[in-house]
Amino acid sequence: MTLSQVQKKILTTIDPHAGVAQWTDWKWQMRNSIRDLKTYESLLGIELSHEQREAFTQTAAKFPMSITPYYLSLINTADMENDPVFLQSVPSPHELHILPGDMADPLHEDRDSPAPCVTHRYPDRVLLLVSNTCPMYCRHCTRKRKVGDQDTIPSREAISAGIEYIRQTPRVRDVLLSGGDPFLLSDEYLDWILAELRAIPHVEIIRIGTRTPVVLPQRITPELVAMLKKHQPVWVNTHFNHPRELTQSSKNALAMLADGGLPLGNQTVLLSGINDCPRIMKALVHKLVRNRVRPYYLYQCDLSEGLSHFRTPVGKGIEILESLIGHTSGFSVPTYVIDAPGGGGKIPVMPNYLISWSTNKVVLRNYEGVITTYKEPDSYEPTFCDRNCDRCDLQLNLSDADEGESIGIQQLLSDYDETISLVPASNERFSRRKDEEQPGE
Ligand SMILES: *Cc1c(COP(=O)(O)O)cnc(C)c1O
Repeated sequence: MTLSQVQKKILTTIDPHAGVAQWTDWKWQMRNSIRDLKTYESLLGIELSHEQREAFTQTAAKFPMSITPYYLSLINTADMENDPVFLQSVPSPHELHILPGDMADPLHEDRDSPAPCVTHRYPDRVLLLVSNTCPMYCRHCTRKRKVGDQDTIPSREAISAGIEYIRQTPRVRDVLLSGGDPFLLSDEYLDWILAELRAIPHVEIIRIGTRTPVVLPQRITPELVAMLKKHQPVWVNTHFNHPRELTQSSKNALAMLADGGLPLGNQTVLLSGINDCPRIMKALVHKLVRNRVRPYYLYQCDLSEGLSHFRTPVGKGIEILESLIGHTSGFSVPTYVIDAPGGGGKIPVMPNYLISWSTNKVVLRNYEGVITTYKEPDSYEPTFCDRNCDRCDLQLNLSDADEGESIGIQQLLSDYDETISLVPASNERFSRRKDEEQPGE
């Protein structure tokens, strides 16, 4: 492993006696994270103007900074203002512009929390927040309200209470460890959490969301991978936003995880001035799949306070998908989602391909603009479903439907539920009605 000129300079400025062994030690990287302006300037050998300093100080007082020496070393000082690494890691005065629609907790993660450390939004899976620290404080963090908030580091008791909730809730088959960054916990501590979850029979899969392969690739060690392997199936989702972030160190970290049998996914946030470009996005997804990472989600930037300067119109995301679907490998295309404010969850959006429909034909268009038809069957015998699989001709042999109550659009489509419409509880049209009829009845 050889260090770049910039990395050598940063390393010796921090500690004249340090060498590659220190640089590649994740704990050294964490201990020497850059948290103040002076260190930042001296390590990069730059001097900010008085105005820039003032702006920086005001922003960092509200939303603190922390950057690993490794991630700092990726900043291109020759074009700092447009550098994707700089823009994601260094405080900007724009963060203090709070717009009328902005919210501290737009996704209602705190409100949808039935137990400590748990956000339970969807029927069969939960978010378990096990760590409140991150190797790098992303400027676009959706949980910006919590960044640097030492008081809320979950205790072992709090995590145990969260795990207990999962144990008592048989419908949870998928547990998503997040935070903070779960990989900032020690191997031993993470091993304990994973073992506790694995001991719960109804927990089928465990997922870990981490940005360490991007900002602290040194964290991916043979010991960590060996520990994770014991708790399979474990899926790892990382967070690359720009092709420049896939350095040799990152690639090595991803290779170790993939070789360890951990399926890898990636979540990207669509960020104005960083990756809101079809060509950048295509380069990113291609680099990811070459490194065995499946692009999973492309997120529309949330309505959290302090993120307004990063937001793009939704049309930009659709334009990016338009440039990917059909143009490149299907598994290189992430699902573009808007995480609904108010806790509605992730809503997929994409270009329209279904142009029209008759009783026996659909009209579609493809990525090239070719308009085509698909002839539907003239006769189709629908299978009536009352969820009694014993009486059904389809050989599914499910002992019983364990999905609980059906909800949402699925409920409207089903044979076994009489609901004919879904309307918001506070719909004015219904409150104007004289009789007691409830929405959906
Ligand atoms: C994103 C998210 C999940 C996982 O959603 P998937 O679509 O299954 O990846 C679960 N819980 C919460 C609260 C989430 O925000």
